[in-house]
Amino acid sequence: MAKPNKKAPTKTIDIYCKACNAPLFKYRKGGKGALVKCFKERIVEDFTHTPCHCPACEKEFARETLIRGTPAYKFIGGKVWFK
Ligand SMILES: [Zn+2]
Repeated sequence: MAKPNKKAPTKTIDIYCKACNAPLFKYRKGGKGALVKCFKERIVEDFTHTPCHCPACEKEFARETLIRGTPAYKFIGGKVWFK
C-alpha cells in the first residue's frame, strides 16, 4: 500500500481546540480543504498531554485510527479549528 504522503507538504498549520482555543498540534498539512484527520508522522509539535484530549479543557477532540496502515488522529466534527 502506498503511503499517503508522496511529496511532503511544506505548509504548516496550527490546530486549536474549538472550545477553549488552546493549541493542540502544529501540523504539516497536505492539500487544501477540510481538516478531518491528521497523520501522526506529520505532526511537527504536539501540545497535548493525553492523546486526543485538549491539554486545557480536557475535551476529547479526536480518535486514534489507522489510515492505510498509518497511525493517525481522526478529528471529531466541530472540535477543532486551524489556521
Ligand atoms: Zn480545549
